[in-house]
Amino acid sequence: MVEVRLENLKKYFDNGKVKAVDGIDLTIKDGEFLVLLGPSGCGKTTTLRMIAGLEIPTGGKIWFGDKDVTYFSPKDRNISMVFQSYAVWPHMTVYDNIAFPLKIKKYPKAEIDKKVKWVAELLQIETLLDRYPAQLSGGQRQRVAVARAIVVEPAVLLMDEPLSNLDAKLRVAMRAEIKKLQTKLKVTTIYVTHDQVEAMTMGDRIAVMNQGKILQVGPPTEVYLKPNSVFVGTFIGAPEMNLLEVSIKEKDRNLVLEGEGFEIPLSEDFRELLKDYIDKTVLFGIRPEHMTVEGVSTLEHVKKITTIEGLVDFVEALGTDTIVHANIGEGNLIKVKLPGHIPLEIGSKVKIVIDLENIHVFDKNTEKAII
Ligand code: ATP
Repeated sequence: MVEVRLENLKKYFDNGKVKAVDGIDLTIKDGEFLVLLGPSGCGKTTTLRMIAGLEIPTGGKIWFGDKDVTYFSPKDRNISMVFQSYAVWPHMTVYDNIAFPLKIKKYPKAEIDKKVKWVAELLQIETLLDRYPAQLSGGQRQRVAVARAIVVEPAVLLMDEPLSNLDAKLRVAMRAEIKKLQTKLKVTTIYVTHDQVEAMTMGDRIAVMNQGKILQVGPPTEVYLKPNSVFVGTFIGAPEMNLLEVSIKEKDRNLVLEGEGFEIPLSEDFRELLKDYIDKTVLFGIRPEHMTVEGVSTLEHVKKITTIEGLVDFVEALGTDTIVHANIGEGNLIKVKLPGHIPLEIGSKVKIVIDLENIHVFDKNTEKAII
């Protein structure tokens, strides 16, 4: 096990035209499960490949503990990698697939046997050891790939979208299994995904990436509840955070967020944070579950609330939840998530209750969070 430190790490392609990774600083603690999360093309895989030694950085350094491994070859780094495509060898049995990295390291036969059986048991594939990959399901093949990665007891485990090829149900099951396995083995793990639910449920911390840069790093709930930018706020969470352009105004000595045809009164506590933005346009953000509809459910646990009028435009009944699309003011559609099945009529008037402890205000130009 080891701490991994990335220092101003860069990777440019095509003579600097493509800045795949554009100067990232990140420390992954010893034994931590860190998720690199971001949209397609943001530089996650390139970052992972540099940590693995499969890509030479354009600039910056990679440290494993106090060792500078930036230019070490992959085999000298004590890492294992699991890919989306499983990459198990079709001509070898499950046993030989798992044993392979140990054979290369010239482990004695008896020790290989002991280790293969140990990881096969951990991943519940003991009964499949004599089979060939073609005789396995996708989920079983991925277990073999994970077993082969951890059998060498690597210092760092690197995983690149390992669950993307599995069906939805299996993905959820494997999510929990990989997380439990990592907790048991305490191996420093860097896990790449574009799936925010995977990131939220698996990571000790999440690093959100966009366009070659890391925008925010923190525990899942912190990144979710206190996003530092419009990008992080809207990338994580489904349905997406509502975002409305508003002006901050002072009315009768109270602050209000004034949008097109609606006003959201704010409590006095926000004055200090917003004082430089009075009479300016900002972006107001609120997650669908941080609102409710009066008379339907309550926000009893919330100390500060405010209410605005809305008109029901559409209702999505998901069974577990109801997503209400409501019009506020002049054509501003927002989504409100209500727990359970709530049969609201389209066209009916509702009072939308807003949890003021969970509102977000972003600078319109920098898109950075003010609140
Ligand atoms: P995905 O989730 O789609 O795999 P990603 O976040 O892992 O995306 P990368 O694969 O790291 O993104 O790619 C980052 C950027 O670098 C992309 O614009 C990609 O096209 C570019 N890129 C990656 N590898 C190369 C290469 N060998 N040559 C040129 N450009 C590359």
